[in-house]
Amino acid sequence: MSPRREVLGTGAGKSDADGTSAEGAKRLLDARPEQDRLEHTAEGQLRPRRLSEFIGQSELVARVSIVLEAARLRGETSDHFLFGGPPGLGKTSLASLIANEMGTNFRVTAGPALVRQGDLAAILSDLREGDVFFIDEIHRIPRNVEEMLYIAMEDYKIDILVGKGPTARSVRLDLEPFTLVGATTRVGMLTGPLRDRFGVICRLEFYSVDELTEIIFRSARILGIVIEPDAAGEIARRSRGTPRLANRLLKRVRDFAAVAGCSEIGLDLAREGLEAFGVDELGLDNVDLQLLGLLCNEFAGRAVGIASLAVSLGEDRETVEDFYEPYLVQRGMVLRTPRGRVATERAYRHLGLSYVPDVTGSLLFDISSDINAGDL
Ligand code: ADP
Repeated sequence: MSPRREVLGTGAGKSDADGTSAEGAKRLLDARPEQDRLEHTAEGQLRPRRLSEFIGQSELVARVSIVLEAARLRGETSDHFLFGGPPGLGKTSLASLIANEMGTNFRVTAGPALVRQGDLAAILSDLREGDVFFIDEIHRIPRNVEEMLYIAMEDYKIDILVGKGPTARSVRLDLEPFTLVGATTRVGMLTGPLRDRFGVICRLEFYSVDELTEIIFRSARILGIVIEPDAAGEIARRSRGTPRLANRLLKRVRDFAAVAGCSEIGLDLAREGLEAFGVDELGLDNVDLQLLGLLCNEFAGRAVGIASLAVSLGEDRETVEDFYEPYLVQRGMVLRTPRGRVATERAYRHLGLSYVPDVTGSLLFDISSDINAGDL
């Protein structure tokens, strides 16, 4: 049997039978911000296929390889994994390479695509021994579907309802042992019972400039791009610690070089290309700068609720929370506080503004209660 990869909810799964697959596919795709969705389709080529190709996150990689090796030695299916962290850090890549390492099939869906218990039951009952079942955005699974996962993860069984009305009865089905890999940008939004059923819980961190440089060289090799080391370093510095962005910026600089008639990317060309695409020297784009501008200018340094901020930016709240904020928080430009978001002195400096601390004292509070590891 050769391993197969399937995206469930696109018409390939059993959910065809109840007519949910087209809708499911739409939901699956709708789950990603537009830019991510476009990139995702072109990403396969650059995805690391083996753990040895996965750059960075060394502690996490060491843990994953111990668990997989131990499962292999015992001849058993590996325990379930939960990967948390901002988008584009490699959660999907890790899930798919776990399947590669174990030589099993890789089956993919996303939390919002699992609307009914039947959607999940159809996928689970179709899994073969050892398959890796990946659920992206697992924090968005509806509660009733999540409950079905508990027993499936623990005992490889599901209860399904057969028949309708008073004659309906519950039947317990045995499943093949499988490995669930869940990915989430919000570990904190997972319920305790679901989180507890994962044997391995890991958080992916932003990548260092050196690691991103290595990723850029690897991608350049695959895409046949000739790039000088200082140009790769420049792209890495502006990639917000995120491999997906590093690859995206590399491709845009490649486009810029092609139009400029250059076959090799040097430092000056990389800088010009990045500026042409509106990426500043810290990797901030127009939306980031707009967000900082709102906090520093329009809201004049006051704490701003996330909902107001998202409306003012014309972005949805989740995109602001999952994509824009974590990097600005990590760079020390924005504080998440119980009263809202506040720009720091560093943000003012980056915008070339003079910093006027909020004399009403809105900066004088304990921020720890608002910063939840799972939210970042
Ligand atoms: P996530 O699921 O966390 O949003 P992905 O796994 O889809 O992130 O990663 C996005 C892209 O970034 C992948 O296609 C891959 O090319 C690249 N990538 C991510 N992590 C790594 C890594 N550690 N080494 C090399 N490339 C990586």
